Amino acid sequence: MDRVRPPREALRDLSPYDAKHLEAEVMLASNENPLNLPGELLERLSDLAQRIPYNRYPDPMATGLREEIAAANGLEPSNVLVGNGGDEIIQDLVLAWGGPGRVVLDFPPTFVMYSIDAKATGSTLVQIPRRPDFSIDEEALKARLADGDVDLIFIANPNNPTGTLAPETLLIDVLNATDALVVVDEAYFEFSRHTMRPHMSRHANLAILRTFSKAFSLAGLRAGYLLAHEDVITELTKVRQPYSVNRFTQAAARLVFRERPVFEAAISQLLRNRDVLVHGLSEIPGVEVFPSEANFVLFRVEHASAVWRDLLKEHSVLVRDFSRTPGLEECLRVSVGTEDEVRRFLAAMEEIMTRRRAAAHFGVAGAHAGSEGE
Ligand code: PMP
Repeated sequence: MDRVRPPREALRDLSPYDAKHLEAEVMLASNENPLNLPGELLERLSDLAQRIPYNRYPDPMATGLREEIAAANGLEPSNVLVGNGGDEIIQDLVLAWGGPGRVVLDFPPTFVMYSIDAKATGSTLVQIPRRPDFSIDEEALKARLADGDVDLIFIANPNNPTGTLAPETLLIDVLNATDALVVVDEAYFEFSRHTMRPHMSRHANLAILRTFSKAFSLAGLRAGYLLAHEDVITELTKVRQPYSVNRFTQAAARLVFRERPVFEAAISQLLRNRDVLVHGLSEIPGVEVFPSEANFVLFRVEHASAVWRDLLKEHSVLVRDFSRTPGLEECLRVSVGTEDEVRRFLAAMEEIMTRRRAAAHFGVAGAHAGSEGE
């Protein structure tokens, strides 16, 4: 055959998630932990790697890891689902609670996988835009919930890419106002130190998503988990890929989870680096910084795309450009790096902004002709 019939209609207006996987000396685009695992854990992992029977399929439910996550959260293993990163669990949630004729709700600007998965599954996507300060529009939300047709709600808390934490009272109001499955995505929980876990016993419709990709330095291995009512977990096991979390990842995540106090010092250091980052950015004329409860900071700057390009091309600093995202016009997001990385980023921003101010003063559009609008 010289042609292939098209895929489902739902894919026509869909673009793939673009992780902007570029190389740079200073990588501050993906909210990763800037540090690899501590050396001692790396050594223990190499030992573990020698003893894995790679010819055998992994345990589909990651029993050992699941038990330890459950115990640490005061829950039963039946309340825990482990997945190939939070991304896979988001897809499982949409497969099970979304789909044609079902309504998925999110609050843009927010983590884009919610809407990508909703569209890919032919779900009806309802989006309630955040207010200009990126808080959730409670009145609009309550009005929408009153229709009674919402099946699945995603609330990233803190929100990515804005760093905003929703008030606990708002989240409780939502849980009371709907029987939709409410997923509170706590991917950045270890930085915000805020969780809805205490409310699980009263709300069967609350699910909490967490990841090993951020504070725990395992973005490269792919592991995340969901805490939820056991009936929710049972339904998700019907749609999930049985072997998505490989043996090595299970072993590594287990080791890291058991040793998680080791990460505390690095997390506290990152929070201090965030303060330096926020303060430094706020001192640069022409930059508006938004408060953040996570390991990244959103800021607004004129000609954001050109600034993004200058950071990469002239300073080898990679951040994320959100300037084409509705509600995030002229916004860039920078992850919190090491002290040295934060210093390099701030120095680069100062240099770029000083040059731009001088160029504007002399009537030149940007330091390099043609750099605008890229
Ligand atoms: N939720 C949020 C809010 C995120 O920012 C991310 C990662 N960017 C994820 C979930 C998924 O993370 P992972 O798949 O690496 O666990």
